[in-house]
Amino acid sequence: MRPPLSARLEGFGTTIFTEMSALAARTGAINLGQGFPDTDGPAEVIEAAVAALRAGVNQYPPGPGIPELRRAIAVHQRRFHGIELDPDGEVLVTTGATEGIAAALLALCEPGDEVVTFEPYYDSYAACIAIAGATRRVVTLRPPDYALDPEALAGAFSARTRAILLNTPHNPTGKVFTRAELELIAEHCLGRDVLALCDEVYEHLTFDGREHIPLATLPGMAERTVTLSSAGKTFSLTGWKIGWATGPRELVAAVQAAKQFLTFVSGAPFQPAIARALELPDAYFERFRADLQAKRDRLCAGLRAAGLDVFEPAGTYFVTTDITPLGGTDGHAFCLSLPERAGVVAVPTVAFYDDEAAGRPLVRFAFCKRPEVIDEAAARLAGLRS
Ligand code: PMP
Ligand code: GLN
Repeated sequence: MRPPLSARLEGFGTTIFTEMSALAARTGAINLGQGFPDTDGPAEVIEAAVAALRAGVNQYPPGPGIPELRRAIAVHQRRFHGIELDPDGEVLVTTGATEGIAAALLALCEPGDEVVTFEPYYDSYAACIAIAGATRRVVTLRPPDYALDPEALAGAFSARTRAILLNTPHNPTGKVFTRAELELIAEHCLGRDVLALCDEVYEHLTFDGREHIPLATLPGMAERTVTLSSAGKTFSLTGWKIGWATGPRELVAAVQAAKQFLTFVSGAPFQPAIARALELPDAYFERFRADLQAKRDRLCAGLRAAGLDVFEPAGTYFVTTDITPLGGTDGHAFCLSLPERAGVVAVPTVAFYDDEAAGRPLVRFAFCKRPEVIDEAAARLAGLRS
């Protein structure tokens, strides 16, 4: 019999998030692996979903998303980024950014096309590029600052490059791409007639006053960029899976052409609730960011005290570390033994690299947890030094 899994999906196995969350569940360790908050999102947003459920908002919503949410997404893009969008045609509601990324790659790539992306990469990128029949060309970002190497970037493009898939703020490194880096990326896209897919799910999670710059706001880029984002991180509602794709009409229509056969539509009762969330006052976003920055500082201090080499993130839920100072070289083995050694679960960053040597000693920890949970994890990790 032929093996059940298609060749396209061979080698992708079970995601590292599933593996590590299962390890946490099995061992009772503190889960700083998979990135999800351990507190609920805004009460008024949850109440809006409850009200929608009770009001009978339980059947298929319109394909592109309910008008109220598409309008709220367009208003959000103008309010925070100065991006003008027509909610009718330039905004598509998706089942999380995950679906938006998959639909965009399926819609825009031909088999044989190449997609440039950065490693460490979010794991679904590699899988979805493969499902689309395209090939990934990977540019390695290296600690301590994960700065973009212009030569490596130039070397990743070829005559077959269809798109660049960028994530800023970046998971797992916590890097926020600088304007100069984005300008360089834009220069390649414009010069080579390449599309851009920009995953901005951490758009509100930047620290120390750093600015998140959407790639679509660079000169000439709006016409060729599909921006993907989602409510999951910004509102601590990762299980709701409401995301969106925005950009020029023809590109969004292409993404919708794929989306309609993936999920057809996305979570009806959550859509009006996320429309409410996007309209929350600035104070919500500022407070959320400040809280998360304090959590970052708390966990980074704990990880440093435990003896790890810490690469302080400028954004996201995550901090990456190098385990070498503790005598380790293999992040995956380290993470498998961590529940027993310290009662904590983390994610081996090597799972997000093609160049395994570059990722081998790196381990990612999530700090989107209550302060007391971070403190307890830090106290447990302190024992690693001995
Ligand atoms: N992109 C990145 C970089 C992520 O970290 C995540 C994590 N959830 C996603 C996309 C997926 O977003 P969603 O949960 O909205 O599908
Ligand atoms: N984005 C989250 C992370 O990086 C988890 C998403 C998932 O489990 N697929 O941890």
